[in-house]
Amino acid sequence: MGLDDIKRRIADAEAAAGRAPGSVTLIAVSKVQPPDRVEAVLTAGQRVFGENYVQEAQGKWPDWRERFPGVDLHMIGPLQSNKARQAVQLFDAIHTLDRMTLARKLAAQMQEQGRSPQLFIQVNTGDEPQKAGILADELPGFLASCRDLGLSPQGLMCIPPEGEDPVPHFSLLRQLAVQNDLPLLSMGMSADFEAAIAQGATHIRVGSAIFGERDYG
Ligand SMILES: *Cc1c(COP(=O)(O)O)cnc(C)c1O
Repeated sequence: MGLDDIKRRIADAEAAAGRAPGSVTLIAVSKVQPPDRVEAVLTAGQRVFGENYVQEAQGKWPDWRERFPGVDLHMIGPLQSNKARQAVQLFDAIHTLDRMTLARKLAAQMQEQGRSPQLFIQVNTGDEPQKAGILADELPGFLASCRDLGLSPQGLMCIPPEGEDPVPHFSLLRQLAVQNDLPLLSMGMSADFEAAIAQGATHIRVGSAIFGERDYG
């Protein structure tokens, strides 16, 4: 299990960046992983997890939540508007608020259910046509519209373009967070979380480096 190794690397990266110990939250991304691997990591004390698919998470987490109190579950995958109800029921944080239709559904569900998962706005830092996320220059307007609905997004999230140096994307996300007064930054995965911590990540999303490669077969 790579959990201890990752925790050590996070502590080293925090120290190297002059950041306080524990200032970075590790989200263990458990999508598609065999249950025994996830249970081993739960048993080792990890409580913050990320999932990409509402249905998969619904099948696994209600039981684990009962057996391992204190679980903090984050939705990090694309969220269909028609899954907003289940997402608000199931998750403690949603990292992929990326359009007004979803913002409206989430606002309605949060009001109806009296729950308020923490919200991150996904930003398409690479301006990639096929990728979800708000464009950088549309962020202030989007944020204002979210607030008009009664939502209070706390942070930004990005997935840098594949095959590119992620650092300029992390740096841009940080600038946008500062400009818009948002305290949280969800950025960095198995291959680049140390670089993300150097750029100010408060939440890193690490899957394969903890659990091993995912088998989609
Ligand atoms: C799957 C996934 C991760 C984890 O990726 P690894 O490379 O396995 O660490 C992080 N963020 C998002 C949005 C993902 O979909």
